[in-house]
Amino acid sequence: MSKVAHYLQEHLVGEVMTSTNARRYFATDGSILQLAPALIAYPRTENDVRKTARFTWQLAERGRVIPLTARGAGTNHSGAALSSGILLVFPAHMNRILELDTKTHTVTVEPGINFGKLQQTLYTHGRFLPPYPPSLEYSTVGGAIANDAAGEKSVKYGAMRAYVKGLRVVLANGEVIETKRLNKRELSKKLGLATFEGEIYRSIDTMLEEQHADVDKLDRHLTVNGAGYNLADVKQRDGSFDLTPLFVGSQGTLGIITEAVLKTEPYNPQTTLIMANFDSLQQTQEAVAALKALPEKPSAIELIDEHVLSQVHDLNPNQLKDIVKPPFPPITLLVEFDGPERQTKKVLKSAEKILEQYAIGHQVTDDPEQQQLFWKVRQATSSLIGHNEGLLQSVPLFDAAVAPDRLREYLEGIYGLPSASNLQPAVWGHAGDGILQWRPRLNLGQVGDRQKVFRMMDEYHKLVLGLGGTVSATGGDGRLRTPYLQEMYGEEAYGLLQKVKKIFDPYGTLNPGVKFDTGIDDIKTMIRSEYAIDHLYDHLPRS
Ligand SMILES: Cc1cc2nc3c(=O)[nH]c(=O)nc-3n(C[C@H](O)[C@H](O)[C@H](O)COP(=O)(O)OP(=O)(O)OC[C@H]3O[C@@H](n4cnc5c(N)ncnc54)[C@H](O)[C@@H]3O)c2cc1C
Repeated sequence: MSKVAHYLQEHLVGEVMTSTNARRYFATDGSILQLAPALIAYPRTENDVRKTARFTWQLAERGRVIPLTARGAGTNHSGAALSSGILLVFPAHMNRILELDTKTHTVTVEPGINFGKLQQTLYTHGRFLPPYPPSLEYSTVGGAIANDAAGEKSVKYGAMRAYVKGLRVVLANGEVIETKRLNKRELSKKLGLATFEGEIYRSIDTMLEEQHADVDKLDRHLTVNGAGYNLADVKQRDGSFDLTPLFVGSQGTLGIITEAVLKTEPYNPQTTLIMANFDSLQQTQEAVAALKALPEKPSAIELIDEHVLSQVHDLNPNQLKDIVKPPFPPITLLVEFDGPERQTKKVLKSAEKILEQYAIGHQVTDDPEQQQLFWKVRQATSSLIGHNEGLLQSVPLFDAAVAPDRLREYLEGIYGLPSASNLQPAVWGHAGDGILQWRPRLNLGQVGDRQKVFRMMDEYHKLVLGLGGTVSATGGDGRLRTPYLQEMYGEEAYGLLQKVKKIFDPYGTLNPGVKFDTGIDDIKTMIRSEYAIDHLYDHLPRS
């Protein structure tokens, strides 16, 4: 065992592991990349995190940089939960609900809590946390905050950033801070602190004052955008100031979250669901815009194209046989409303009028069993994701979004990608937020297909940037999207992001390689020869 591992083992309450097995297990996350950590630590307390950060900071001061990376369940697709140094794995012990405040409707949690478990608890109180990702059964709330996760409900409720009221964060030097929105008086107190925290407040405040024009360049006018850092929400017009937006979506590159206070929403299990079919992309786009403009926004607008349905049908003709039959419509939308009954009834009339105008047919149901059947159409995408044909696997390469009024061009662009000419892209996604998914089926063990990965990423990101979109919608930049960030934001705005990183992490110990300093050549050396995520969520010591 290395000296570093020895030191941590002596000073942490949580376990430290360096076995080849454990290192191999944690060398992959949900992405196509791999990188083995030198050691894995399972913090039991904030103090464990603090001591580890203090230790790596002191080593860095003497010129030795050991990367420090936080990890939830490792389900992200961008290669963000990988490290060549120390991996701090949170779900093992730091996984509790600390407080559920029924007056303020907030919940305080440790980062390693499973998202699905928190959601179940909230349901019993008639509340929920809307920006859950589809991976909620496996993934953690800490990972969702650090990724600024968004999901099917985000079209109405927004992404994770709308729900994080405050954080406890261990900074790069081991100092612990608490963040929340501060008024001018509270801010001036922070600005006067002689600590690293004070230095951060001063530097960020000055930067925002001097470079607000560059901050504006970070705005892509999208409802979701996980690329870079959210500088725009730090300082508001009234002079109030909050560092929380910077940590949300920062993927562990600015600090390590040890506690979060989250806002919740009332949960209404009685929803109304519409399944609508379209024969034209333009009509789909116009319907999405009209539905979003209703006085009560739909709580989901999910899209599934004909290729998803026909590929699922080819795999198993029985899977959707009682719900949809070939020939499949070019586009199916699932549109959900979760407002109070009387309000929804009124809105439904307008929604149906919209669909009569744009769709070729639609069905409405508020029967839960029928709704479950309709949702199976959307959930069928997991059959495509999970299906391997020999060594061919569906691999997650993209996570982009465009403004929903460019949905048609986005879809047409995906279908027309030159590198996909012999593949039939099957596309699905959160249409209301302009997020589309396609997972090409490739054999990463084959040189030709590995080369295709880079051609596809280049073509795909060119398409998205040409439409004014973002290369990172919900899963963060990680390593996979980092090479495209400068092109997306331009030199000045990207320079601003680099400055933020330097302010919080002057020695580059916090999750290096994520958001900065990873090029296509680095990715080439990290790409796995086989893709699988079937090992999620084991290998954790139980508390
Ligand atoms: C099938 C599938 C579908 C998905 N669809 C979506 C989707 O629609 N929307 C979406 O948003 N995501 C999606 N994801 C990606 C991912 O599951 C989510 O973003 C999830 O919230 C990540 O949680 P995690 O616990 O797995 O985090 P991890 O993957 O472990 O980590 C994610 C990032 O958070 C950082 N991190 C973790 N804990 C901390 C901490 N305590 N402090 C600081 N940084 C920390 C890590 O360093 C890493 O950078 C999907 C994943 C899968 C497998």
